Amino acid sequence: MTAWDAIVIGAGPAGVGGASLLAENGARVLLVDEAPGPGGQIWRGIETIPESRSRILGPDYLMGKAEAARLRASPAHLAFETQAWRVEADGTVWLKDKTGIRQERAHHLLIATGAMERPVPVPGWTLPGVTTIGGLQILLKRDGLLPDGALVLIGTGPLFYLYAAQCLAAGKRDLTLIDTGDTGALFRALPHLPRALSGRGPSYLMKGLKLLWTLRRAGIKFHERPQDLRIESAGEALEVRFQSRGASHCLPAGHVGLHEGVIPESHMTRSLGCQMRWSEVGAAFHPLRDVHMQSSMNGVYVAGDAGGIGGATVALLEGRLAAMSILEKLGRPVDEHLRNITHRERRAHLAPRPLLDRLYRPRAALFSPPDEVIACRCEEVTCGEIRRAIDTGSAGPNQVKAFLRSGMGPCQGRICGMTLTSLTAATSGLAMDEAGYLTIRPPLRPVSLGEIADLIRP
Ligand SMILES: Cc1cc2nc3c(=O)[nH]c(=O)nc-3n(C[C@H](O)[C@H](O)[C@H](O)COP(=O)(O)OP(=O)(O)OC[C@H]3O[C@@H](n4cnc5c(N)ncnc54)[C@H](O)[C@@H]3O)c2cc1C
Repeated sequence: MTAWDAIVIGAGPAGVGGASLLAENGARVLLVDEAPGPGGQIWRGIETIPESRSRILGPDYLMGKAEAARLRASPAHLAFETQAWRVEADGTVWLKDKTGIRQERAHHLLIATGAMERPVPVPGWTLPGVTTIGGLQILLKRDGLLPDGALVLIGTGPLFYLYAAQCLAAGKRDLTLIDTGDTGALFRALPHLPRALSGRGPSYLMKGLKLLWTLRRAGIKFHERPQDLRIESAGEALEVRFQSRGASHCLPAGHVGLHEGVIPESHMTRSLGCQMRWSEVGAAFHPLRDVHMQSSMNGVYVAGDAGGIGGATVALLEGRLAAMSILEKLGRPVDEHLRNITHRERRAHLAPRPLLDRLYRPRAALFSPPDEVIACRCEEVTCGEIRRAIDTGSAGPNQVKAFLRSGMGPCQGRICGMTLTSLTAATSGLAMDEAGYLTIRPPLRPVSLGEIADLIRP
């Protein structure tokens, strides 16, 4: 098998930015993504979306058109509808597409697998009709679909307001927002305002203010700081119950969308053995990286939201910075002026991050849900069962997994991993870093034994 100079996993802004630059400068690059085309989360379906729908999604969405075109014009090899389900430190990547399983190898890996939504384990989150806002947004971007009937959105963070505004632009009026942002957030965020007003910060703040203004002006019903929030089924429909400003509320809903921010998708970097760190401000684990976007492992680069949440432009710039480093290692010339500008731009786009992270930090209750709430959706394990397993001597998330099967289902702990760590930390009085995390092993995506057997069948 001839080794590629680089395999890039993920064709969002980070992967597209990295793969285009590598290929344009003569590197042999393979870019893989499980989606049918480039774009990632923000620019999903950018090459095929009808114009009427792309206008609803806004200018940040449209920015993806030029980047996707640049990628297509480059000599990068593109493999869409292809999942990377096992990645090894020597640069071997195991792929799965509709023809089966195969291995590729590269001298350098660029992991650009993006973010996932933070799981929101609140009472009723597993009921039919309750989904994440990211999931609802995928239906809008990919298929132009909006939920029928009354839609209640619960949560906080930029994507929460963005999706609400996109619903409005698409003509949805039967919409109520329950903003879970806590009272102290503004005070914790304020000291970071001066930095947020530097660099490219003002344009992000203006975008946020415009979204809020659009929602308020449209007369969307808002509730703030809900207490004792629970979602219950009511026949075919749902009810959202909570206390706010001393009053009890019960909102009927056809669908409920939940969102409490995004966190780096860490299973691939963890499976490789990259060193991870808990960020108290971002309330998430992320891989350690140097200024060149290289992880703690030589030759393994991590760009974009997979390395730490920074948004689409930061992801694109980080993809390019990682590509420049790989080019340098390949002995190809690198434009130092361009590299300095890219670093400077990245810093300028990160200026509002400390403010945004504090403003939208999820409330403490999310890290310690009530006993009856299901933590592991695949194996239906409740928080109470996990607490009891820790109380009776489980040494951490991996032993809880062995006792209760939490984290052993098809998602391999993507959904319950954080809850297992936070319950271990809270119950044992440990810091999140000390509580540890599930040991992540391949397959990172479901693969059947038959597919593996096909590899050795003569
Ligand atoms: C659900 C969701 C919706 C979002 N919507 C918006 C939005 O509308 N506007 C906005 O500004 N920001 C949005 N964000 C934030 C957004 O993720 C970033 O700003 C930006 O897209 C990050 O770019 P990235 O390249 O790091 O990752 P992404 O854009 O997330 O791209 C990662 C890519 O990796 C692929 N991938 C992951 N794992 C594998 C694997 N094992 N095998 C093959 N391919 C793989 C995915 O299919 C994806 O295409 C959203 C985030 C999420 C989680």
